Amino acid sequence: MTETAVILQSTLTCPHCGTAKTETMPTNACLFFYECTGCGKLLRPNAGDCCVFCSFNRNRRLAKDFEATIQSAVTWLYIASVKLNRAGFAGGSNS
Ligand SMILES: [Zn+2]
Repeated sequence: MTETAVILQSTLTCPHCGTAKTETMPTNACLFFYECTGCGKLLRPNAGDCCVFCSFNRNRRLAKDFEATIQSAVTWLYIASVKLNRAGFAGGSNS
């Protein structure tokens, strides 16, 4: 009876006035613009980010960093396995 923990509530922090507001993330869409309730300015995602939650939410940012870490770990594993293969099969009978 595991309950999938999806973070639907997420706090956006306005870079202009510092107002932090907890908003509900749409699960099926990206929120591209968000109007700050503090200063009324329209927040846009940073370049390369798909939605304001990516740019202004810490959870999303952490998740993205984690993904990047996994990616580089996989790359290192791949490099390591290539090296192991070369060491293991060097001079081996290859039909
Ligand atoms: Zn603001």
